[in-house]
Order: sequence, then C-alpha cells, then structure tokens
Amino acid sequence: MTRFVASTITFPYQRSLGPVVGAFMTALTERRILGIRSGDDVLVPPMEWDPATGAELTHDFVEVGPAGAVISWTWVPVPSEQHPLNRPFAFALIQLDGATTPLLHAVDAGSAESISDGTRVAPRWRGTRVGRIDDIVCFVPGETPETDGEDTGPATEPVERMLYNASITYRNPVPDATDRAVAASKERRLLGLRCPTCQRVFAGGRGYCSVDALELGPDCEVELPHTGTITNYSIVTPVQYPGQTETEPFVRVFVLLDDTDVIIPYAAVIDLPADEVRVGQRVSAVWASPAEELDEGGGMGGAWGALIGWIPTGEPDVDQPDLVNRIF
Ligand SMILES: [Zn+2]
Repeated sequence: MTRFVASTITFPYQRSLGPVVGAFMTALTERRILGIRSGDDVLVPPMEWDPATGAELTHDFVEVGPAGAVISWTWVPVPSEQHPLNRPFAFALIQLDGATTPLLHAVDAGSAESISDGTRVAPRWRGTRVGRIDDIVCFVPGETPETDGEDTGPATEPVERMLYNASITYRNPVPDATDRAVAASKERRLLGLRCPTCQRVFAGGRGYCSVDALELGPDCEVELPHTGTITNYSIVTPVQYPGQTETEPFVRVFVLLDDTDVIIPYAAVIDLPADEVRVGQRVSAVWASPAEELDEGGGMGGAWGALIGWIPTGEPDVDQPDLVNRIF
C-alpha cells in the first residue's frame, strides 16, 4: 500500500484593503461595525460595488449593531486549529441591527441548545484590535458587547493592509525506492540506482530513470562512495517566515561523488562557514547518530535519511574549471 507523508507550507501574505473594507477594518479597531448603503439596503460587511448590478457604491457608511439576531447557524462540536474558538461553538449568519444583510461570524453559545434562529447576540471585542475581522473574537448571547482583557484603544492610523498566514498541506506518495534509500542510510550506506539501459546512476530514492522512463527496482541498487567534491553552492539568507528556524546565512552545496556522475544537490554542510565554502573543496558524508535519527523518512527532500551533511576532509582542492557546471 502506498505510504504518504504530509508537508505543510505556511507563508505570510499581505493584501491591500481598499477604501471600503479599509474603513470597515479601521472602525473595528474603534469597536464600531460599519455597513454601506446600497439603495434601500445596508450591506455588512460593506462592499465597493452593488452585488446585484455591479455599480460602484458611494461611500455612504452606516454604523450598525453592535447587537443583532441569528438568522441561521451551524454547530461546530469539534473545533480545529484553524477555527476561531478552541471550544464547541456555532458559525452563524447574524443580522446586525440596522443591516439588511447578514454577517458570518462565530457565536460562543456554550451548547447547541443555547442558540436558535432569532437568538440575540452582541460582539465580544478583542482588547487589542489591529483591524481584522477577528477583532471581534466572537458574538455572545445577549444585548451587551464585551471586551476580552484590557482595552488598548483604537488604531492610530487608518488600516490599509491585512496580514495573514496562508497555509497549504500537501500529501505526497512515498516511492518504495525512497523507503529503501532511507533504510540504507540508517546502516550508513548511500544507495544509488543504476539504470540497466543507459547505465546512469540516480541517488536520493528516485526510483526511475528519467531518460528511459524505466522503474528502477531493488535489483538496480548500487553502493555509492561517501566522499566527493563541491561543484557549486548557494548561500541562503533566511527570510523570517513563520516556522523558519535559521537566523544566519547558511550554505547548500552540490557534491559530485567520487568516481561517479552522481550529484547530491542542495546538501547541508558541517563545520564549514558560508564564507569559506569553495568550488573544488573535498568533503565526506556525515551521518546522524542513532539518537539523532528522525523517525519519519521520505517525502519532500527527506530521502537522505541519516545522511545529515558533508564536512571538509582537508585534502587539497580539485582544480577543474568545468566542475562548476556539474549541477545535475
Ligand atoms: Zn536510463
């Protein structure tokens, strides 16, 4: 059965809000909720264009609420990490007093029995508001707004941008060849696969020859040497995105294994500062101690298993002008 690994990529994203949503977000920091007139309607949240005709609306804002009535709801018995509350709650369409369209938000009702169509609710404001929809933590039953913690006041500048973290989780199938390469790495072996047709050798658990479109099974396995020469490198200056653990510039090297055509790409180095790495430098493999080994191998870039990086051997550099062109 195919095994999968999950990989999550999270990155910060920033968008401009424009004059209408920006005004709505700025008002939230003042604990006010704005709608916009569109004919006889008051739209909440406000929109820049009439949703029925597409005509641009004049910026005729109306303060609504803060209380309103639930017109529809669904109970969330087991909240996920991404939900606004960490206990069971309702997502509800709330028609705020003075509005003609409902606002979608969370209601902290305690139990599904405590909410129904028509239930009156009021906002629970965050003490520190930055101009996001979750400046309202949630709505609570009743007519009286609440504030969570100490009120630090409204924003000092109009809110023009919104920051948030986009997050995507991929599930990748792990080829059998990757599992075999990781298992071999735990025995301090660097596994290659030789194509029977073109004789090219592939490393890193890639279980096929990309030239001949052949699957490479266990009968194609060869042992690769543990020493090589740096052919190229990149110095990475880490951007401080969420989850980034690197703070200082670090290097990734391409290693041409001795007596082969195999390149190990984007490899980590040990005891080699970024400003001392050179093309032609001789290196050897460093393996994790059993205690350091990760339980989970495979997936994106994980096929090297217990091979944690490359360390200078101290031998003289290889002087070969075309080394730098050996990347793949
Ligand atoms: Zn081949």
